[in-house]
Amino acid sequence: MRSSSPGIIIPIAISALLTLSCTHKVSKFHPEFIPKKFETTLALKPSGSQTLNILYLGCGNLVLEKDGEAIMTDPFFSNQKVLKLLGRIKTNPERYAEWMQLVDAHVSTKAVRSMLISHTHYDHLMDLPTLLQGHVFPNLKAIYGNPYMPKMLQHFKDSTAKFVVLQPAQVYNPNEQNDPEYQWINLAPHVRCLPIESNHAPHIGHKLYMNKPLDEKHFRSNLVWAADKVKAFKWTAGSVYSFLVDFIGSDTLRVFIQTSASEHPNGLPPLAELKKKKVDVALICYASAPLVDDYPGDLLNYITPDKVIFVHWEDFFRTPKSPNDVRLVRGTKPKKVKKRLEAIKLTKAQLKARDYYTMPKPGTYIHIKY
Ligand SMILES: [Zn+2]
Repeated sequence: MRSSSPGIIIPIAISALLTLSCTHKVSKFHPEFIPKKFETTLALKPSGSQTLNILYLGCGNLVLEKDGEAIMTDPFFSNQKVLKLLGRIKTNPERYAEWMQLVDAHVSTKAVRSMLISHTHYDHLMDLPTLLQGHVFPNLKAIYGNPYMPKMLQHFKDSTAKFVVLQPAQVYNPNEQNDPEYQWINLAPHVRCLPIESNHAPHIGHKLYMNKPLDEKHFRSNLVWAADKVKAFKWTAGSVYSFLVDFIGSDTLRVFIQTSASEHPNGLPPLAELKKKKVDVALICYASAPLVDDYPGDLLNYITPDKVIFVHWEDFFRTPKSPNDVRLVRGTKPKKVKKRLEAIKLTKAQLKARDYYTMPKPGTYIHIKY
């Protein structure tokens, strides 16, 4: 039975979220991770001549660009207040204008060729219709995501930017021992990705909300135009993925992207691929980290990246008054995360570099030199 009534679960979830709703100052917990400026460089090789540019836009939303080829992950800018989640939510035009300004200041919209959608919660997908309706990225060819994605956005099918559902034969499944069936997908002439089956950290305690089967009818009737309102809880998670992304060149750069904390071994890339090429930079999720055992220690010990960039760490249940007005995401205990990070053993080189962990404020432009 697919009940569309929110029943009592949602109000309980919301009130629980509210009771956990103190948002902490970042400076109190991780001041050393936050770049002082909105433009920063991470050097993998001091003498390196290549650069990958990463624009962090908040939550799981990133643009990764190298030599004029770019991809975007989890488009989202319409921060919603907690109580709004009880009802219907819609894209926010003021936030869109700010977001567009940020994108335009750093990336050519012509550069974006593909999008990766990690799962179909509102904070990873709900603003995509606005971007499609506005034809913001003229060279966007494909948007990869779970089977819910095209059904939720059925009125936004576009003749150039195609919705592509990730097929089991393309996705590496870490729960199957040595799953031989997976495929690298070309996202741009020199960018490829390997999707990995992942799962989603619970929101509160052991409970994951917004996880019911898709109510396709709700989207068919309610999300016809980009500015339409949709019940927040109808944006259910669906299948969740993390991604290995290679920027191919004379010296290939490998990036791991995981925009929601996952339970081991979910989300972990195949060892065979890591043996061929190690992960240089890991972009991983901060929100809900303490709700998953040994996260992110297990993950980082497995992929051993050279640098770690935290995403989805800021409180997205409020609208910042200025770019510096950022607080830690509510519902995640920063004291616990700090302890866990301190328990992760770093190599001498990582300790010496001092920028092994970076926590960029939304709007920060990061240059990876290698
Ligand atoms: Zn989510």
